[in-house]
Amino acid sequence: MVERQLRDRGIRDERVLEAMATVPREAFVPAALGAQAYDDAALSIGEQQTISQPYIVAAMCVELQLTGAERVLDVGTGSGYAAAVLDDLAARVVSIERIPTLAARAREALAATGHESVEVRVGDGRLGAPDVAPFEAIAVAAATERIPVALYEQLATGGRLVAPRGGSMGQRLVVIVKTANGPRETVGLGCRFVPLVGD
Ligand code: SAH
Repeated sequence: MVERQLRDRGIRDERVLEAMATVPREAFVPAALGAQAYDDAALSIGEQQTISQPYIVAAMCVELQLTGAERVLDVGTGSGYAAAVLDDLAARVVSIERIPTLAARAREALAATGHESVEVRVGDGRLGAPDVAPFEAIAVAAATERIPVALYEQLATGGRLVAPRGGSMGQRLVVIVKTANGPRETVGLGCRFVPLVGD
């Protein structure tokens, strides 16, 4: 997975490649899909939700430019896989999921893989986690036409937010950096995520 799906496609951040090589993806997919855990695809995790394709998880982590010192907010816990990778790359991860059964399963998978320090909250991720903010990095794993204002507000100055922007017809991964002069935005690759509910 790391060589063919990530390195050969241009992922060069060694810390990201290492984290993706270390986190056991099979622990985050339903047992029946264990054989497909490392496929080059998103997989169903129940409740009409998916675990993201490995490449997109890596691409989002690269954009966040994590050094190990950051507080990270992960919106849309899903399986917990991206939260586990982020946990290996940063100091603290708070992850928010709106569906309680998924949050409960993600907590179990995170604990089973040594990522019990990830804090999984049930709630509306569009509101962020004001009690922990500011965050040096925010990863949004569900698509939205407009990046929620609360999330931008909870970024530290110099902090980076990555999110799929768009609707069901198509989305692009955008990176927003909070600067002293306001948001600086870069539009990246096309992608396809489930919707951020509440829009
Ligand atoms: N990062 C995940 C992929 C998650 S898919 C992984 O690695 O497996 C997106 C998730 O966002 C879904 O589980 C969905 O229920 C959740 N979601 C959608 N809208 C949300 C909202 N407003 N607040 C919190 N979670 C939300």
